[in-house]
Amino acid sequence: TENIWAAALGTVRSLHEAGYEAVIVGGAVRDRIMGLEADDVDIATSALPEQVKAVFPKTADVGIAHGTVLVIHPLAPVEVTTFRTEGTYSDHRRPDSVEYVKSLREDLRRRDFTMNAVALRDDGSLYDPFGGREDIREGIIRAVGDPDERFGEDALRMIRAVRFAAKTGFRIESGTFDAIIRQAGNIRAVSVERIKMELDKVWKSGRAGLAMHLLIETGLAAHLPLMDPARADADLPVWDRFGKPARPVEGWALLTELAGGPAENPYKLSNAEKRSIRDIRAAWEIRSSRPFHPMDIYRLPAEALKAGWRLAALSGQAPPAEPDEIDRQKARLPIGSMKELAVTGNELIAWAGQTGGPWVRDWLGKIEEAVVTGLIVNNRDDIKGWFLDGFNSQR
Ligand code: ATP
Ligand code: MG
Repeated sequence: TENIWAAALGTVRSLHEAGYEAVIVGGAVRDRIMGLEADDVDIATSALPEQVKAVFPKTADVGIAHGTVLVIHPLAPVEVTTFRTEGTYSDHRRPDSVEYVKSLREDLRRRDFTMNAVALRDDGSLYDPFGGREDIREGIIRAVGDPDERFGEDALRMIRAVRFAAKTGFRIESGTFDAIIRQAGNIRAVSVERIKMELDKVWKSGRAGLAMHLLIETGLAAHLPLMDPARADADLPVWDRFGKPARPVEGWALLTELAGGPAENPYKLSNAEKRSIRDIRAAWEIRSSRPFHPMDIYRLPAEALKAGWRLAALSGQAPPAEPDEIDRQKARLPIGSMKELAVTGNELIAWAGQTGGPWVRDWLGKIEEAVVTGLIVNNRDDIKGWFLDGFNSQR
């Protein structure tokens, strides 16, 4: 964090020396006022993207269409965005085009909530035309300007209000809250990719239960895939116990399970995320009925075993999860994968005196299971004896 702030302040000063306005904006300022660490620090400037690029020896075009240049500062990369609005809106979606504006005030005015619309100058003073610091002090999430107008421009902001409530524990100001209730249906116009990124942050927040209550109370849940308000009575207590997961994918696993495990995930998750959800749900199902066997420990990734146990426990189907126990059991396994077996398929073929075929894979699987479960030792001679006994007796 220190490097990130030093890089950001250095970047602001370089822009000043080149004759431009520049300030730190957005989440980093909010988090700093709250005494939290920031993982990225954004800068807003009067310089146009081409002008920003001319000031620094090393930059990358990460979001030039939105006016953003990545400055490769030696201490850390810093995103620098030209003062802008978001052009015109249609369909309650964020527009693709942006319009540069002259003043910082206009740039802050287009931001979603007062707590995200505070600028920090490099002398440590704040520019706070919408009362963001006061709202942060009082723990209030309030739309900048007219909430109906702001949610009309970009309906995703309604989910963002909930995600910031989950992150901070703040309450949503009543005018802002009522506007969400009025406009909840417009969330359908927003792409699932954008919603997914906000929900990832909800799962990580440690207050997924609060978020679920808010999604239901505002009516948003009725318009979101996999969230059926009719199930709220049964599901909310589980979300209340969800706590802080090791990875956001645990939230997706819980949401999927509570929705009855539909074959297709409507949030366009990555293949890696889908695989993790399958593994977590498999571990959850096992741990709901019995402790893990060595073969479960062998087959499933440690994170999935821990998450599945945790979810089984918080649904009241298993004793409290012991993540260290999973690590110990993983460490005790004689092999980590088939590759570590002391024999190969070719050896089986030679010992059996038969041509290869599907039986080779079948037998490697049997040997793997016998080794993992401790029936035989992972040693060439032991495996050979055990294999030949079994192979000959089955013929
Ligand atoms: P986090 O620390 O969780 O990343 P953040 O405040 O940095 O929170 P981002 O999504 O990274 O949130 O957005 C950075 C800033 O850009 C916000 O603080 C806000 O000022 C502005 N912003 C982002 N998305 C929107 C939006 N949809 N509408 C209006 N302003 C937005
Ligand atoms: Mg951010």
